[in-house]
Amino acid sequence: MIGGQQNVFIFIGPPGSGKGSISSLCTEKFGWKQLSTGNLCRKHIARQTKIGKEIDFAIKSGKLVSDSLITGMVIDWFMQMGDQDGITILDGFPRTRAQAESFNELLEQQLDHLKLHVIRFGIRDESIIARLCGRYICQNKECQAVYSLLPGSALAPQCENVCDKCGMVIGRRKDDEENAVRERLEIYHRHEKQLLDFYRQIERHIHEIDADKSLHHVFEDFKSVVGLDLV
Ligand code: AMP
Repeated sequence: MIGGQQNVFIFIGPPGSGKGSISSLCTEKFGWKQLSTGNLCRKHIARQTKIGKEIDFAIKSGKLVSDSLITGMVIDWFMQMGDQDGITILDGFPRTRAQAESFNELLEQQLDHLKLHVIRFGIRDESIIARLCGRYICQNKECQAVYSLLPGSALAPQCENVCDKCGMVIGRRKDDEENAVRERLEIYHRHEKQLLDFYRQIERHIHEIDADKSLHHVFEDFKSVVGLDLV
């Protein structure tokens, strides 16, 4: 699948399905770029920007940020990147049909050198709730590395409560508390079908990944789905 130089992957999957962890592995191992709209939002909040103040409540309670704000952030990011070579993963965008439509227009009108691939991470809600109870994030908003304190997880930090990458303390996300997770899942399921229908309508193949497995196995499946068996 990876033939040309400029590819963009859209990762569609519920919170906790491993989109961010697979993106980080691709960044580390292959030098791909990752655009996580959730991370961008949390950086705005930490820096107390105008946008950050506007979205603080939505993020903490697990609701979606407005389509126009999020799409604007993504467009700005692509405009800043220029037409650099390489592969970009969109982790957490688009999340609604309106976002997918706007992004598609951008691809057709201004980013027509990019080839789009859609990957869907499938996982049961019960597995997500169990996973997110053990998820810890580096509290340094420029880092936001993800860890798991669940027994036997490959994502355990080397030192208790400390980020392996930058040495800052790790902690829970407010929106990983069970009520917020249930709200996020409900919102995800409400939008997922419309999002997938849109990509079917514009005849994009949707690559399915079973994400209800260990990170190692999901990464192996991802590599074979995208044609990276030899990496
Ligand atoms: P994530 O880190 O991907 O789980 O995103 C955390 C939160 O950021 C979400 O619950 C939303 O409040 C907000 N967010 C991230 N991406 C989007 C998006 N594409 N559309 C709307 N809100 C988003």
